[in-house]
Amino acid sequence: MAKIIAIANQKGGVGKTTSAVNLAASMAATKRKILLVDLDPQGNATMGSGVDKYDVEYSAYDLLVDDLPPEKIIITETSGGFDLIAGNGDVTAAEVKMMEMYGRELRLKNALAKVKDNYDYIFIDCPPSLNMLTVNAMAASDSVIVPMQCEYYALEGLTALMDTISQLASVVNPDLKIEGILRTMYDPRNRLANDVSEQLKHHFGDKVYRTVIPRNVRLAEAPSFGAPVMYYDKSSSGAKAYLALAGEMLRRSNKIKAA
Ligand code: ADP
Ligand code: MG
Repeated sequence: MAKIIAIANQKGGVGKTTSAVNLAASMAATKRKILLVDLDPQGNATMGSGVDKYDVEYSAYDLLVDDLPPEKIIITETSGGFDLIAGNGDVTAAEVKMMEMYGRELRLKNALAKVKDNYDYIFIDCPPSLNMLTVNAMAASDSVIVPMQCEYYALEGLTALMDTISQLASVVNPDLKIEGILRTMYDPRNRLANDVSEQLKHHFGDKVYRTVIPRNVRLAEAPSFGAPVMYYDKSSSGAKAYLALAGEMLRRSNKIKAA
């Protein structure tokens, strides 16, 4: 049965979508069965997976609002070797429509329950806000990965985010865990980044992934080629970092299983 992981941070531009697409591709490259759910109306994860968000028959909207069977919605032809539930502007309409539905917080959880057995990991790319879509992602997930940039005020924002996650969890999903905190767009020559990184480790201990995602232009270029970075430039530091992250996650989960 799949472990379901939301990739969330209410701040925009911290590397959620980049991490979702490239982690999904890296995990798929290790022969795991992966589903990526694009819950952001911007549809960047969809485009970055080589799928045209304007040209999909079904999206997360149909899953959340119309109860369409997931098998009908899931796209199996992506450039990253994983399956995809697409996101696009329709997902904004889903957010509005869900507001008047019974059990609105649990729509995604109930839908994913139908396909959970078919995957090793399901990753959910969240929008940069704490709306009903994000609440659905939190309710459906076993854990959350929080990507963050090591910049001034990052720690303050992170503490606020952790509080929000635990408040949300206490209502919709008391078992929700923090899977890990991921340092993104990291520049080791930047002193402030190093300071923030040290504070982060001090506060959150081994919740902070040892793997660091460097600032790498290949990661920013890859989406315009509609592919995860490992299929655009496999020798880039970005491709190596996301493969290392997948490895670290798998080692961690083996350790937990063995314990
Ligand atoms: P979010 O989903 O949190 O809004 P994105 O993943 O879309 O963030 O990243 C924001 C922008 O930064 C995008 O243009 C993306 O290509 C770029 N980016 C993300 N991670 C990196 C990185 N490690 N190095 C360079 N550019 C990056
Ligand atoms: Mg995004």
